[in-house]
Amino acid sequence: MEDCIFCKIVEGEIPGSKVFENDKILAFHDINPVAPLHLLFIPKLHVTDVVEAMNEENLLSDLFAAVKEYIEKENLQEEHFRLVTNRGAAAGQSVFHLHFHLIGGRGLSWPPG
Ligand code: 5GP
Ligand code: ZN
Repeated sequence: MEDCIFCKIVEGEIPGSKVFENDKILAFHDINPVAPLHLLFIPKLHVTDVVEAMNEENLLSDLFAAVKEYIEKENLQEEHFRLVTNRGAAAGQSVFHLHFHLIGGRGLSWPPG
């Protein structure tokens, strides 16, 4: 999709520091990390948000399978972390290509703002 920053990262048009990739999913470091661990997991297919993703067969399961693989590879099973997605500008979404934030490495308060 034109003018989508995450599609450009998928296409390699702009750099992203990748930590995981398979044919469907990409994960890379957030450019403005809010915690020592702050990654973004995205589908390579452009979907706007989690609601749109629900209409794409296997997309969310592929995404969670990638998170599982990453967590197991990095031995994060016993760690605390937050896995979240913002849907809609009023919920904090600023990039309209689905992404799950994986945030950790520090204590995380709840509820969010
Ligand atoms: P949202 O606010 O939509 O939930 O999250 C978007 C995230 O994308 C933000 O945490 C922001 O720092 C990150 N981000 C925005 N532009 C870029 C970019 O060009 N590269 C990377 N790696 N992250 C980005
Ligand atoms: Zn996109």
